[in-house]
Formats: sequence, structure tokens, C-alpha cells
Amino acid sequence: MSNKMKKNDETYSSKKCPECLTHIPADAVVCPSCKRRIGKRSDTGMAKKAINWKSYIMLIISWAALAFYIWWAFFRE
Ligand SMILES: [Zn+2]
Repeated sequence: MSNKMKKNDETYSSKKCPECLTHIPADAVVCPSCKRRIGKRSDTGMAKKAINWKSYIMLIISWAALAFYIWWAFFRE
């Protein structure tokens, strides 16, 4: 459906925190209630969870380290 009807601004000016389910301003980056970082408003009116790049990168590094260790332990020479 490409029906872009303008609904009343009330529903678009707020979003729900995914952590504590509090209604917060749609442009809020941090939830004023639970102080967690949150993302943009999704279609459901819920704020998206902010991507945790730090843990994402740490996960990649730990996998790379594991792969390197396997190579180092078994495939050397
Ligand atoms: Zn919250």
C-alpha cells in the first residue's frame, strides 16, 4: 500500500520505549525514564533498540581471534 495519508500528529510525535514501555518524544535519543539509548520510531510506534556497536565489534573480533587460533593450533607448518 502506498497510501500516504497524514494521520493526526499526536500518534507521530511520540514513541514507546522498548525497554520500559514509556511514551517518550519521537525525537528522543535517550529514554528519559530508564536512561537507555533508543533508536528511531518504527512503524508500530515503538522505538527501535539502538544498535550496540561496541558489543557487535567485540563479537566479530572474538570470532576472528577464534578462527586465527584454530589456524594457529592445527594448520601451521
Ligand atoms: Zn525507557
